[in-house]
Amino acid sequence: MADFSLEHRRCNLDSISPYRGRFAPSPTGPLHFGSLVAALGSYLDARLNNGVWLLRMEDVDTPRVVAGAADAILRALEAYGFEWDGAVMYQSRRGEAYQAALERLQAQGLVYACRCSRRQLAETARRGIDGLVYAGLCRNRPPFPEPAALRLIVPDRRIVFDDAWQGRVACDLATESGDFVLRRADGIYTYQLAVVVDDAEQGVTHVVRGADLLTSTPRQIALQEYLGLPTPRYLHLPVVLDAAGDKLSKQTLAAPLDPKWPLPALLRALRFLGLGPVRPVANRAEFWAQARELWAGAGPPLRGRRPEASGAIVPAAGPALPGT
Ligand SMILES: [Zn+2]
Repeated sequence: MADFSLEHRRCNLDSISPYRGRFAPSPTGPLHFGSLVAALGSYLDARLNNGVWLLRMEDVDTPRVVAGAADAILRALEAYGFEWDGAVMYQSRRGEAYQAALERLQAQGLVYACRCSRRQLAETARRGIDGLVYAGLCRNRPPFPEPAALRLIVPDRRIVFDDAWQGRVACDLATESGDFVLRRADGIYTYQLAVVVDDAEQGVTHVVRGADLLTSTPRQIALQEYLGLPTPRYLHLPVVLDAAGDKLSKQTLAAPLDPKWPLPALLRALRFLGLGPVRPVANRAEFWAQARELWAGAGPPLRGRRPEASGAIVPAAGPALPGT
């Protein structure tokens, strides 16, 4: 706990296992419960597969980044006992890579400029699986000088993938998502483009993250295919539910954690994953031993289990156990 060196924690990057997982928080605030669940699931899956676990700060949307949040997240992860491999990747330093990918898409004629106003978008777009479905108004407009948002022409076919937790997922991007933005008019590259470029750069083979990102995955697969990049395996962890089985409010999900008391939050996160009866533990070492055991024991049944079958897990305050 005394060592706060935030990079190169472990050096098994040449591990025999081809598994490469990652956790990619957004430093828009302190680590919250939803992020802790994603970190726990991705970490356990990586470690149980003898894989490496990489960290990436998704700080591409610089206006939303909160000063000091990235370091606070890293220190919180340390306090919870996570050990990551290699240097932390920062999206805010990756503009050249995103631009290069954008240019490859432009060279294929897959990108067009859109200068629709918010009002025009609201008036012409339908509600889709994740926000508005852009109606493609600017697809055939003559080019105009920037600044303008740059949109990707989505493939006119269904994207299908097998999620290790959610099962088979299919999405018709043209009708459910629409041509989506790769670079905003203010010059900021979007999450969808950045995450695809970075997963490829980090050689990520397995993406374990919250189901709130499930609707983003088809767009990311489309980008991977356009760019000739491999598609990782996906496992989308259940969305946090409250006792009534309702999705927790953003407010609750985003409730800050206190890394000074790691055990209650870790146990809540483990319970939330619904892997089995969670026993009280006296220290972090006991927690991690139990967590590995439960994740390993879940094994194949975990794969394909749907969140509704995992029960409504109450992320209420856990037993007040001392931290270590
Ligand atoms: Zn437009």
